[in-house]
Amino acid sequence: MANESTETSGGVADAESAFMTLSHDLRLEILLALWDAPGFSLSFSELRSAVGERDSGKFTYHLSELQGHFVAQTDDGYELQYPGHRVLDAIQSGVFHEQAAVDPVELDADCRDCATALTFEYGTDFIGRVHCPDCGNRALEWPFDPGGTADRDPEEIVNAFDRRTRLIWSCALDGVCPFCAGRIDREFASNVDDHGICIGVLEELDRYDEYFARDHPAVVSVDCERCSFYSFIPVGVVLLSRPSITGRLHEAGIDVRRTPLWDLGFVVDADAIGLRMADSMAIEVAIQDGDEQLVCVVDESFDVSVERELDT
Ligand SMILES: [Zn+2]
Ligand SMILES: [Zn+2]
Repeated sequence: MANESTETSGGVADAESAFMTLSHDLRLEILLALWDAPGFSLSFSELRSAVGERDSGKFTYHLSELQGHFVAQTDDGYELQYPGHRVLDAIQSGVFHEQAAVDPVELDADCRDCATALTFEYGTDFIGRVHCPDCGNRALEWPFDPGGTADRDPEEIVNAFDRRTRLIWSCALDGVCPFCAGRIDREFASNVDDHGICIGVLEELDRYDEYFARDHPAVVSVDCERCSFYSFIPVGVVLLSRPSITGRLHEAGIDVRRTPLWDLGFVVDADAIGLRMADSMAIEVAIQDGDEQLVCVVDESFDVSVERELDT
């Protein structure tokens, strides 16, 4: 969310200049031709014939505009550089020029409110949605790139959505932006302050009313200091990267890696989350396994401890 200039080199003007460099279709064709080439490298004549440009002067001019950042000149010719790869990656994600839709897919997981089978849908607003077609319960929603729907059957798309959402959440919760690698500010957001006084913070947060887990007593807000990434993550997701918790769950027969996010109650169920008010705020996350319950406490440093295990 932060737009302030940083100490690293490169400001808005430099970024505009970089985008302008890519503003001619011949330049994108040059990047694509190098991407297709063995070792991402071609000689001048190979590259020119690959893009089919007869006008040598025009070709030379556009190639020279890419040189230095997107393309490097080597002894053998021209080679695609890391920034060139990232341009192509962004194009392949489809977010700039594609829209895809996925018809409702019935999932092998039930709604926690009414036990109807959940469905997955993906629409032209770039949001993947896991929800209950009967009672409307929104189990999980997160953006997904259209590229993720290509060459996959519906079940594979659903699996990719789960994997990618996990990756983004895990990276952001570790304080690293999954999109720009910048620093992420993380903090609990809840409707009460450290003294248990209701201060209605959540409702005041930008776009919180649209958030699928807005009924949770607390969530983790994540805000990139560098790019536009700003969102909320269910507190239970913190547990997914703690071996002390995932190990116990594994012993109890719950494989958190193979179980989709929307089938993990401690991630998606508001009732699993409780607030602890002491000197500072901590969040209690209850993991139910049959008659047994594991109560974990996530503190403000995102350290997790197991508070109690109930054997009934
Ligand atoms: Zn339902
Ligand atoms: Zn970022």
